Amino acid sequence: MSDEPLRQRVGIFGGTFDPIHLGHLMLAEQFREQLQLAEVRFIPAAKAPHKQDQSAADAKHRVEMIRLAIGGNSNFAIDERELKRGGTSYTVDTLRELKIELPTADLFFLMGADSLAELHTWREPQTICQLAFVAIIARGGQPPPDLQQLARFQPADQIESLANHLLQMPQVEISSTDIRRRAVSGQSIRYMVPAAVETYIRHNTVYS
Ligand code: ATP
Repeated sequence: MSDEPLRQRVGIFGGTFDPIHLGHLMLAEQFREQLQLAEVRFIPAAKAPHKQDQSAADAKHRVEMIRLAIGGNSNFAIDERELKRGGTSYTVDTLRELKIELPTADLFFLMGADSLAELHTWREPQTICQLAFVAIIARGGQPPPDLQQLARFQPADQIESLANHLLQMPQVEISSTDIRRRAVSGQSIRYMVPAAVETYIRHNTVYS
């Protein structure tokens, strides 16, 4: 028998989650199932580098809404490190920390086609690809992800393997932007967010 410790597969799902919605939850579940992850970590950003000019709801609200949304799912967890770190949240910093904390884990970093197209503008994209397997999501109704974006950061054989392991997800046209807009104008957000999140938003007038 091999003495190699079993490597745990941990999924990293970063976002602003302002608020978390059913599109995020479906995506996280597909990520977990298709890559057979032991855990998906939701990591809310303090400040996303590409959303510098936008202010987000208070971190305590965003955290509480994630907690309510993932409660009862033992495969989902919230990781508040980016909020605690403060400032602009860079993925490479988060992955570096996780790699040290979880030396026997394989990290999978979830990325949509839109983010992939911008990867070259991220901080240290090559290091990101070395620290984690980048899992690309192909969304129904959207153009296929351009995997050549990874060509300058990853060896060709890894890109081929990625092409064969694209995550599939049906198109769910829900966005946090739309939910905020609806909440502000008093429109229904029922069934776009979990019921507990809807109640939380209303009781705490998170978006008013
Ligand atoms: P906003 O509308 O405020 O920009 P968002 O709904 O896109 O927010 P984020 O928190 O920025 O939510 O998203 C985190 C990740 O989830 C991103 O990679 C984004 O592409 C993905 N995502 C968000 N909504 C969906 C959805 N409906 N289907 C699939 N992926 C989604």
